[in-house]
Amino acid sequence: MESFNPSDLWNLCLAEAEKRLEATEFEAWLKDSTYEDINGTRLVIRFRNSFVAGHVKSRFGEMLDDIIRNLSGTSELALQFVGDPADPGPSGTERIVSGTSSSSSDSTFLRSNYTFKHFVVGPSNQLAHAGALAVSRDIGSTNYNPLFVYGGVGLGKTHLIQAIAHYLRQEGSKRTFKYLSTEFLVATFIKSVLQSDFTRFNRLFHDIDYLLIDDIQFLKGKVETQEAFFHRFNELHQHGKQIVLTSDRPPHELQDLPERLISRFQSGLVADIKPPEYETRLAILHLLVRDEELEVSQDVLDFIASSIRKNVRQLSGVIHRLAAMSRLTGCSIDMDLAQKEIRSSLGTITRRLTPGNITSIVAESFDVSPSQLKGRQRKHSVLIPRQVSMSLIRELTSMSLTEIGSFFSGRDHSTVLNSIDRIAELKEKTPDLERKIAEIRRKLISI
Ligand code: ADP
Ligand code: MG
Repeated sequence: MESFNPSDLWNLCLAEAEKRLEATEFEAWLKDSTYEDINGTRLVIRFRNSFVAGHVKSRFGEMLDDIIRNLSGTSELALQFVGDPADPGPSGTERIVSGTSSSSSDSTFLRSNYTFKHFVVGPSNQLAHAGALAVSRDIGSTNYNPLFVYGGVGLGKTHLIQAIAHYLRQEGSKRTFKYLSTEFLVATFIKSVLQSDFTRFNRLFHDIDYLLIDDIQFLKGKVETQEAFFHRFNELHQHGKQIVLTSDRPPHELQDLPERLISRFQSGLVADIKPPEYETRLAILHLLVRDEELEVSQDVLDFIASSIRKNVRQLSGVIHRLAAMSRLTGCSIDMDLAQKEIRSSLGTITRRLTPGNITSIVAESFDVSPSQLKGRQRKHSVLIPRQVSMSLIRELTSMSLTEIGSFFSGRDHSTVLNSIDRIAELKEKTPDLERKIAEIRRKLISI
C-alpha cells in the first residue's frame, strides 16, 4: 500500500507547486521549506526565516492552499508558514504567518501563456505539436489515441499538454476535459482507498471528452493506482474519448509498469520532443523578449541561444532574470550583463556535473570501479564503460577533448574522439547499450 502522511502531503504539494511556478521562483522561495508539524488542522511548514515565510504566504499562499485542499480532499486543512526563529531574516521581526483555505476546488490549473500561440514549433517538437493540435481540433476521429508525448526536462511537455486544455476551454468549444498531474491522480487514488470510497477517484474520469495527464512516469511503483488507471483508460478509450499523456521517457522505458499498460500507451501516436535546434532556440528567445517587452540586441540573443542548448526552461530562466535585473537596476541588457548571467547559470549546472561524478556513476552502472575506468586495462568490460564515460563527459560538461584525455590518465585527444565515435556507432547497433546510456544520463541530470 502506498502511504500518505503530512510530510508526504507537503512534498506532493511542493512537487505540484514546482510545476506551476517558474523554476527560479520555486528555487528561491519554496525549495528548501520543510514540513514541521501538524497542529490540529494546521500543517506547519518551516522556511529559512520569517521574511521568506511571509513572502511565500502573500505570493503563493492561495495557490498552496488550493493544492493542499485538492491533495487532501478536505477544505479543513490549513497551512501555517513559519520562519526559523534563529534567523528572523532581513526585516528583523519574527512573524508567524498562517494561511487558511478559501474558495475554488478546481483541480485544473493552467499557466496562462502555455498556449499553442506561445509555442514555437521547430524540427525538435514538430510531431508532438502536430499531434497535440490534431487531437485538440478533432475528437475521436483521429488515430492519435492516446497521444503520448515524451522528452527530457524543460522541453515543453507541460506547455503542450496545457495548450490542448486552453484550446478546449475556448469559447464555443463544448468539449469537456480534465487536466491533472500524475501525482494528483495517485494522491486521489490513495485517499479513496483510505476512505474506502472511490467516488472522488471515479469522478476524475466521469463525463469528460478528454483526459490530459502530465508526467505519467510517476506511476512507477504505484501498483494499485496503475491497476485502477488501466481500467479507466480502457473505458475512456472504448468510448472514443481522447487521452493525452506526457512522460520523461518513451513507453518502453517505463520499466516497472505492467506490459499491458505500456502497450496501451504505444497504441496511438508516440511523439518525442528533442532539445531545440539553434533556430528554434532563437525563435523562442524572440518570443520571450517580446512578451517581457524587453529590448535585446540580436548579438545578445545569438549569444544566449548558442550558450544554452539543452533546455528551454533555462532559456526562459535567463530571460526572466535579465528582465528582473534590468528593471531593478535600470541597466540595459547588453552583452556584458548576458555573459555574467550565463556564466552564473551554467556554473550551477556544471558544478554538479564533474568528470569525477560522471565516471563514478558510469562505473557503478557497469559494475566496475572508477579507477579501472581511469586505468589502462583494455578488456571489453572496462573499455566500453570507459568510452561511455568519455562521451558523456563530452556531452555534459564543457571540457575539451584534451582535458578529457588528461582526466583519463593522460590519453590524447584523438583517443577521446575515437572513443566517442565508437560509442555513437555501438549505440546504433545495440539498443541495450543505448538504453543504458540514456538511463545513466537521466541519473546524472537529476543529481
Ligand atoms: P517540461 O514539462 O517538458 O519539463 P515545460 O513545458 O515546463 O517543460 O517547459 C519549460 C519552459 O519552456 C516553459 O516556460 C515553456 O513555456 C517553455 N517552452 C518549452 N518549449 C517551448 C516552445 N517550443 N516554445 C515556447 N516556449 C517553450
Ligand atoms: Mg512538465
